[in-house]
Amino acid sequence: MNRLVEVGLNKGNPKRLGADILVLKDNYEEVFDMYVHFRELNIYPMVCTFIPCGRTSIERQRKRFDVTDEMKIALWNKIYEWNAEHGIRFEGVSPFAGGHVCTQLRYALYISIRGQVYGCPGELFHIGAMVGKGKRTLKDIWEGVSKNRKYLCEPRIKSISLPKELETKVLEVMKEKYSGAIEGDE
Ligand code: SF4
Repeated sequence: MNRLVEVGLNKGNPKRLGADILVLKDNYEEVFDMYVHFRELNIYPMVCTFIPCGRTSIERQRKRFDVTDEMKIALWNKIYEWNAEHGIRFEGVSPFAGGHVCTQLRYALYISIRGQVYGCPGELFHIGAMVGKGKRTLKDIWEGVSKNRKYLCEPRIKSISLPKELETKVLEVMKEKYSGAIEGDE
């Protein structure tokens, strides 16, 4: 990372570098500082919790590394407060703390080679089949799924990787302290 910065790859807009920061028990205390550090370097910080995919589709595995709901809510609040103090526009509560909202949910589909259709990510959320009994066209399956309007990652919420009350708790803080920052936001 230092070398990339040395040669100036962190300069310019839109950003060209990003840092994927997974929130874990082991690094929890450092995450906020990393977020600020990368913001100051003009590197996009992507602070997120597990997605239920691969090994972490097993709840037991997630629990080994995951932090509590309270810790996640506190971290999200701290990051959004920092954003508000530094003039970073609030788009809505994102699964990527302080970052852009996810616009893929319900628009990005995973289609298996067996004609099964899943929502994001992986094979956890079956939403239809293009083969066999009850088969439908991909267009029908896609149009029949309720569109995500809140942009918070449903797979993460359903798998307890993001707290259900994250959005309301963060909005409470944002409305109370930084109403200007969320004006006009739905
Ligand atoms: S729905 Fe969740 S897992 Fe899928 S792209 Fe969005 S943030 Fe990522």
